[in-house]
Amino acid sequence: KVVPFSPKHVAVLAFPFGTHAGPLLSMVQRIATEDPDVKFSFFSTKISNAKTFKLNKTGLSNIHPHNVYDGFPEGHVPSHPREAIERFMYAMPQNFRSAIDRVVAETGHKITCLITDAFYWFGAEIAKELDCKWVALWTAGPHSILVHVETDLLRERVSNEVSDDPSIDFLLGYSGLKVSDLPEGVVRDTENPMATMLHKMGVTLSQATAVAINSFVDVHPIIVNVLKSKFQKLLNVGPFTWTMPQHHIHDEERCLEWLEKREEKSVVYVTFGSVITPPPHELFALAEALEECKYSFIWSFVGNHKKQLPQGFLERIGNKGKVVAWAPQNEILQHPSIGVCVTHCGWNSILECILGGVPMICRPFFGDQKLNTRMIENEWRIGVAIDENGGFTRENTTRALVSTMSSEKGRVMRKNASELRECAAREIERNGSSIRDLNTLIHIVLS
Ligand code: UDP
Repeated sequence: KVVPFSPKHVAVLAFPFGTHAGPLLSMVQRIATEDPDVKFSFFSTKISNAKTFKLNKTGLSNIHPHNVYDGFPEGHVPSHPREAIERFMYAMPQNFRSAIDRVVAETGHKITCLITDAFYWFGAEIAKELDCKWVALWTAGPHSILVHVETDLLRERVSNEVSDDPSIDFLLGYSGLKVSDLPEGVVRDTENPMATMLHKMGVTLSQATAVAINSFVDVHPIIVNVLKSKFQKLLNVGPFTWTMPQHHIHDEERCLEWLEKREEKSVVYVTFGSVITPPPHELFALAEALEECKYSFIWSFVGNHKKQLPQGFLERIGNKGKVVAWAPQNEILQHPSIGVCVTHCGWNSILECILGGVPMICRPFFGDQKLNTRMIENEWRIGVAIDENGGFTRENTTRALVSTMSSEKGRVMRKNASELRECAAREIERNGSSIRDLNTLIHIVLS
């Protein structure tokens, strides 16, 4: 009897918002180069696939994008990013399930491994049904995934507290941290789709064959050890900037050329990631502080900077600063002229700052950003926080700029960041832990 050739077939389920699908695709690219005979079907929404595959030109014929239903009738434009996320979450997991079934029926190749964004707790169910392995990718840091794994414990302990803002230092590795530092939905504000998803994720991830994370062991060895005891396999396969293929961002505004003319550590880089624009009064305060200080700056601005920044700002700053729609951030942070990064503390930006040895001024907004800020300030000592209750004021921003750019405190933060960078470098040496974990990941997915 002739058995028809059936290649290994990996289904990849991406979360189509924020900086999630890009890192997942670069990890898949890295794995896919190891065996061109293994097929990868990459599922995300039409918008997300168009953007992600345009940026990451894979050049690999064994990765195929497939669009899943985004929750909207054809042609409907969501009024707010939150609406897009919520409608998508109502459509899943059925949208993924039916797209996988369609691809399997079309190709005749059954799924041998499922890779999902760690958000997707239903990966456990689908993998069981398909009788295959499940690998989850957490695109942020170890300290932020552990609070979701420990959500039931946190809720129970905190419910007995009388304080408005109880400490969470009963968790190993979180000394000095409080409930208000946790992502929304862990202990408070628990009745919304995002909070439900993260809670379910926390209780389900132990069923994954492996949980991969864009991080390295020395980011927080204590928390990494706790996590290892919670999962079947925790694989620290980052920092992705060094371990996974990176896409090239076209430098339309010639930021890098402009930086060449600046002195060492004299430039401020401002970014709030791919989705956040601070509220108008904070944009004004930040713009004022940047205008008044002596440092040059590059500001990557989400939105319409011509309309949203103070009138005459761009004319007044002239060649002292550049405001751009999208910047080659990673290359900028590697440039010797950068002295500090003003950031929302998204995990990718933090790793890129660490690898550039650049200290941070932190203005967290939501999700893991506050937790990241606390780690930056208290644990790694590589940045300062702007008080998130008031956000940017001209005074606190000026103070933070001077302290990180021109004081001994800033020099120490820069040194600490460089030391962390050295740890990361050791872990990607030939026998370093990130490389060993990456080899394990490749083996799990391809075997
Ligand atoms: N980024 C970039 N150019 C920009 C702004 C951001 O290349 O002008 C990249 C940045 O290098 C990082 C990602 O977008 O890799 C932002 O990820 P992060 O986790 O910091 O924030 P998120 O977008 O998820 O809020």
